[in-house]
Amino acid sequence: MHKHGVFFSMNEFSSIENLFKKQSSSKTKKISDLDENLVNERFEKKISELEEKGKEKQAQQEAEALHVPYISLKAFPISPEALRLLCEQETQKYKAIVFYFDAVQLRLGCVYPQKPEVQQLLHELNERHKTQGTIYKISEQSFLYASKLYATLPKIRTIQKGISVTEKELANFQSQITIYNDIQSVIQNASITDVLTILLSAALKFGTSDVHIETEQKNIIARYRIDGVLQDIATLPKESWKKIISRIKLISGLKMNRTDIPQDGRFTIFMNEGDTDVRVSTIPTVFGESVVMRLLQSSAIQVEFSELGYRPIIEKKLRYEIEKPHGMILTTGPTGSGKTTTLYAILKTLNTPDRKIITLEDPIEYKLKGVNQSQIDHQKEYTFASGLRSILRQDPDVIMIGEIRDAETADISINAALTGHLLLSTIHTNSAAGTIPRLIAMGAKPFLLAPALNTMMGQRLIRRICKNCREPYTPDAAHLQIVEEQIKKISPASGETIPDLSKVNFFHGKGCPICHQTGYKGRVGIYEIIIMNDALRNALSQDLSEYEVKRLAVEQGMITMTQDGFLKAIDGITTIEEVLKATGGE
Ligand SMILES: [Zn+2]
Repeated sequence: MHKHGVFFSMNEFSSIENLFKKQSSSKTKKISDLDENLVNERFEKKISELEEKGKEKQAQQEAEALHVPYISLKAFPISPEALRLLCEQETQKYKAIVFYFDAVQLRLGCVYPQKPEVQQLLHELNERHKTQGTIYKISEQSFLYASKLYATLPKIRTIQKGISVTEKELANFQSQITIYNDIQSVIQNASITDVLTILLSAALKFGTSDVHIETEQKNIIARYRIDGVLQDIATLPKESWKKIISRIKLISGLKMNRTDIPQDGRFTIFMNEGDTDVRVSTIPTVFGESVVMRLLQSSAIQVEFSELGYRPIIEKKLRYEIEKPHGMILTTGPTGSGKTTTLYAILKTLNTPDRKIITLEDPIEYKLKGVNQSQIDHQKEYTFASGLRSILRQDPDVIMIGEIRDAETADISINAALTGHLLLSTIHTNSAAGTIPRLIAMGAKPFLLAPALNTMMGQRLIRRICKNCREPYTPDAAHLQIVEEQIKKISPASGETIPDLSKVNFFHGKGCPICHQTGYKGRVGIYEIIIMNDALRNALSQDLSEYEVKRLAVEQGMITMTQDGFLKAIDGITTIEEVLKATGGE
């Protein structure tokens, strides 16, 4: 048995006595109240320091008895990555804290290292992170000190709610569903409790980004957003609405009894092969409620840089730019134009052990292994600007910020890019050329912007022709004329060979069950990319217009988004109609 208490050595005792004597023996000077307070304060401080030391010594002795290593965490630098491996509740529950973590090792500091549940916890952590973990004995005060660090962590969303889809269920439903039309028949024969699982299983299988469930006058309609386009998937009897909506609300943490207000929640689909987070939003409608579930599929971040759809010439130039140790790479485009996918693909290329990458996102949509991701929190004033300031103190090489949307963030971002960081972000403009005027409107100084900017990218996502039903066709004459006009204008400096349209075979999809009769399956990006060079840097001024930036960029070899799209239509990847829909042909 170990006695609890404080151990003082003789030396320590005499040092306190001396401290006390020294003060009280100065008889020549009357001790004022103030001095007396000071003496008491110092005395108490010394006592508590000694108490602390004693407790540490005691923990050390206990560690020896248990044959586990001991550590004091008082001044130990614990990284946020290590801290995050256990959530705060778990930390409190087990009185254990991960204080060190790298790709191979994990160290767990525990107040009670001998407890079986702590051993089990270490086992689970090792399994989860493929590490070799070690348990260390820590004192209660080390634990208190270290667990306070949770308050300093950038807020990370915690998801408690969720549904488990077992491998068996998933395989079962997915094997019954090979084309979209199967969903309706599988649902018709299923119990109401299975409906949600089926809809989610099929959505996962087809790479759907959003599942919409809406009540109409007589029915419930389930729709999927596939490749950016909403499509009806199944109709359900209205009687089943209550059960379906209750299940969704329950698992996503929404108020069950409210149907008259919009609500937002989230849940996780737990699967052996990896979890998928789902953001849920409901709004009241005339016939009840409308639910949209956005599936944050990790497949979205499995897109590699080489799969983004850049033309080979530009891909080579871009690779050179992203390997630079500093500067800004900005993407622009409306919501759903694939900006995040682009930034993640770049981050994945840069994600090597010799680079420290930190992101600031709103919200964190996908988790990237080896990247420090933090989420802004407006309520706690952890904004893009304040977050960026803290991030810079963490000595990163690469920083990704969700969006530059205000003057302060723009200012800090430019400074970061000028002081040896590669900064990736998005900015709200319609085209690559609009980036410069937008930043200047936010107060950026042209003479700072010129050396800070590396690359500006405008992008849209367009649908690929379904490979299963692809066939040659003759496009509309008016469309062909637009293509011809645009192709003629391709900048000679771009290095592209201008194709002879009279020899080109255009393709489209005639529609089949695989593509739900749409003729399209999957998407590809179309881009316009401005890489800064001396001509552009010299032209940068307070009143440089978007039009002028574009003119200069084309002169320097930029291919416009429309031209890039038409080149992809000529290559048989997409159709002229898709390009026109996304860009207007200008
Ligand atoms: Zn097809």
